[in-house]
Amino acid sequence: MDKQVIGILGGGQLGRMLVEAASRMNIQVRVLDPTLKSPAKQISNFTPHIDQPFTSSDAIQELAQECDILTVEIEHVNCDELATVEKSGIVKVRPSADTIRLIQDKYLQKEYLAKQGLLLPEYIKCDTLDEAKAAGQEFGYPFVLKCRLGAYDGRGNYVVKNQDDVEAGFKVLGGKMLYAEKFVSFTKELAVMVVRRPSGQVATYPVVETVQRDNICELVYAPAQIDGQVREIAMKVATDTVSCLPVGSSGIFGVEMFLHEDGRTVLVNEIAPRPHNSGHYTIEACNTSQFENHIRAVLDLPLGDTGLKVPAAAMINVLGGANGFSSVLDPCLASLDVPGSTVHLYGKADAKVGRKMGHITVVADSALQLSRRTDLIVGKLANASD
Ligand code: ATP
Ligand code: MG
Ligand code: MG
Repeated sequence: MDKQVIGILGGGQLGRMLVEAASRMNIQVRVLDPTLKSPAKQISNFTPHIDQPFTSSDAIQELAQECDILTVEIEHVNCDELATVEKSGIVKVRPSADTIRLIQDKYLQKEYLAKQGLLLPEYIKCDTLDEAKAAGQEFGYPFVLKCRLGAYDGRGNYVVKNQDDVEAGFKVLGGKMLYAEKFVSFTKELAVMVVRRPSGQVATYPVVETVQRDNICELVYAPAQIDGQVREIAMKVATDTVSCLPVGSSGIFGVEMFLHEDGRTVLVNEIAPRPHNSGHYTIEACNTSQFENHIRAVLDLPLGDTGLKVPAAAMINVLGGANGFSSVLDPCLASLDVPGSTVHLYGKADAKVGRKMGHITVVADSALQLSRRTDLIVGKLANASD
């Protein structure tokens, strides 16, 4: 299994954790990323990496020549060029260029999932101001204007408060292709990682709860504290979502969901065609991490067990704060005294406010012990950004 070389488009923290998993199995990885010392490149000495944008046709061609399999750690890539190298047969692309194209446009993604019968928040295409106002009339206020392409961490979303706010939303989102979505009254956000082999076989990780602050994931709790019936529904929704993707959709996928305030309805928010923040906990808490299972899936190797190996786990994101690197390092240093905690720092050059700089996983014997341990670190995080 260590004969094949994997090329990754994108060299951020997800790429770095993929490299960690691959290197343990002596699988070589080449990274395409514009940043010279990107997080993934720093820990892989298998040169040459390529210091070009992951949208560059020439760079994708070059990577394809050097690798057996191409995969992504970000969906905002050049799908036309990926499709070209895939068709030429010089390299396998997993997930396929078509799957990434489908998912990278959040509107096309919704159209596809709706056609497959999955339950989604109501949505409507929205190219003009008048269409946005009509969406407001139909959905009521607030509703959400969303960019179809290039969105992450909520950059690309605008919550429209009333009819007079529609124009402001259009201005903020700056002439991009948009769609409108009904605002969901949810009690929790849930997520599930699902891994799929080229044959279509899938394995599903436990249901977790994600907590977003300012649209950025702050905390993940595994397993989610929900009743068994909701757990079953969320597992089924996530499994169905990934199973219904087109042929060629292999690798790991993150499925984000809303648990509606009715307590029973689970709606799909969006899919990520790659490792996902809500699956970082799997490194310490599951028998096989999301990163290892992604490597296994794209190489078409048997999938690893997705079960939890600890009773309870949490993942705390460490973001750049007002105090730069001390906002990042203080909670990490504090966590060294907390039993069951593991620090991951991504090696990013600057700690801009809101930037994902690292994360801390905490494992525990019970939900009570977990919340005691997690609170100690979250308290330090709050102080570090004062
Ligand atoms: P990501 O970094 O997960 O890719 P994104 O930029 O694609 O984020 P979304 O997942 O669409 O953005 O939205 C970010 C967050 O905004 C969600 O996790 C949720 O908290 C909130 N949100 C999004 N859509 C809705 C909605 N229709 N109703 C209520 N809240 C929403
Ligand atoms: Mg997204
Ligand atoms: Mg999201």
